[in-house]
Amino acid sequence: MLPIDPNNETAYSFVVFGASGRLALSKIFPALWQLYRDNRLPQGTKIFTFCRTHLEVGTYRIKCVPYMGLSKDRDQIKYNSFWSNVHCCQGMYDSPQDYAELTAAMVRQETRHNMSLANRIFYLALPPIVFDHVTLNISRKCLSMTGWNRVIVEKPFARNELTYKPYQTQLCQTFKESQIYMIDHYLSKQVIHNLFVLRFTNHIWSETWNNKHIAAVMISVKCEKPVQARADYFNQFGIIRDIMTNDMMQLLAMLTIEQPYSNYVEDMRDEKLKVLKQVLTLDISDVILGQYCNNGVETDPTKVGYTQHAYIPKESLTPTFAMVVLRIKSKRWNSVPFILRVGKALNETKTEVRVQYKAMECDRSENKLSIPNELVLRLSPREQLFMRMMLKRPGQELCLRETELNLMLRDRTVPDNYQSLLLDIFAGNQMLFMRTDEQCEIWRIFSPVLAYIDVERPKPLLYDFGSSGPMAAYEMAARNGFTFY
Ligand code: NDP
Repeated sequence: MLPIDPNNETAYSFVVFGASGRLALSKIFPALWQLYRDNRLPQGTKIFTFCRTHLEVGTYRIKCVPYMGLSKDRDQIKYNSFWSNVHCCQGMYDSPQDYAELTAAMVRQETRHNMSLANRIFYLALPPIVFDHVTLNISRKCLSMTGWNRVIVEKPFARNELTYKPYQTQLCQTFKESQIYMIDHYLSKQVIHNLFVLRFTNHIWSETWNNKHIAAVMISVKCEKPVQARADYFNQFGIIRDIMTNDMMQLLAMLTIEQPYSNYVEDMRDEKLKVLKQVLTLDISDVILGQYCNNGVETDPTKVGYTQHAYIPKESLTPTFAMVVLRIKSKRWNSVPFILRVGKALNETKTEVRVQYKAMECDRSENKLSIPNELVLRLSPREQLFMRMMLKRPGQELCLRETELNLMLRDRTVPDNYQSLLLDIFAGNQMLFMRTDEQCEIWRIFSPVLAYIDVERPKPLLYDFGSSGPMAAYEMAARNGFTFY
């Protein structure tokens, strides 16, 4: 629920650091605008941009147009009024004076309508290199004394265990945990919220969500597109740090946690931390790395191999595909492999979780085993939740056929995931945001393998552009009991 101030005495300042960048343009401003359009932003919200580039509201609003989802007939007046609430500040990230000017701009707006409370949100849409300067200067110059302060941070959350420690220290010295929002774009999906209800309020799933019934779990993030945007960053960080050590591990934690003691956010985060602590440190023998290459048929210059892009060094060994097998040492999950698969330039774009049940004995099939039930939670391209089941084929004979039990409820009023995350931040709801100690455990799980990749520079297996990735990955999944149908 959004905070409601019946007397309208609360001002909200939403500051976007790095507003000249892609994220602000393509995600943050569209989400803010759509919330404003639908009257979901708290009244009295003013938006401030802060970056080195000189921005002007007039030109910035035109630049934003392609991302805003505007309806020409409906939105024009409201769109103008949205931009009347935006103020651009130019500054250097290491200049305290520039932060003081930003604060003066906020105070001018906050005091203009005699607001007695000033709440401030600082969105760090910036690369990590400037992170320290920005958090330090915010703490010295920008914090509100009459309301709350919250900070939103974007991945990458450092490079590994070693570099995360100072990152975490810096963040936690400046802000309390209750003020920090480490954003994860997947967790706001309705299908993930449904997973909780499914697991904890339905007998059939509650009773079977364990190693007695589940054979293997696969979490996949497949992308048809090659590496294009943020190529420099990608080449330095690689696909494991880009997706696995944040988004995918959050999905894994949500899938595997025990039921929290209560709905209170810290109980949920405690349970996530507990299960992350039980994940065994990843071993390189449980990792397959790949890199896409030209498939020999494509003539499209955008569909070349990774090292053939003009913007990627020719000798790069950065993986564009990874599959890893994680194991959880707990009574519930011992012996269940959790397979994480992620890749670029693959045959399809899809993010999903497949929970594969054990096959049952079955006289009707050739190998005397049924096709196993499978719970599929699809996050994209559209949210779906279904269970693959076996039924009898219509007719006289007793023949089996596969079918899908659709479990998804459609709710058209649900805001998109970026919008709902921003609303959660305004409302102070940290349920879908990671606590800093969770990321610490994630780095503990992945750091040895990442160090091996950085130091030993193993050659990734080549796979064709537009294929499903290296064959060795699928052999590894099969060895771990996952069946592809
Ligand atoms: P950009 O690389 O576009 O950087 C954002 C802004 O930061 C730039 O416009 C620039 O603003 C400033 N900046 C960039 N490099 C430096 C530097 N070396 N020193 C000082 N300032 C710099 O990033 P994005 O907008 O794409 O992303 C922002 C953050 O969000 C990053 O941490 C990114 O990893 C993360 N993220 C982005 C996603 C996306 O889809 N774009 C998805 C997930 C996470 P100026 O020069 O005007 O000050």
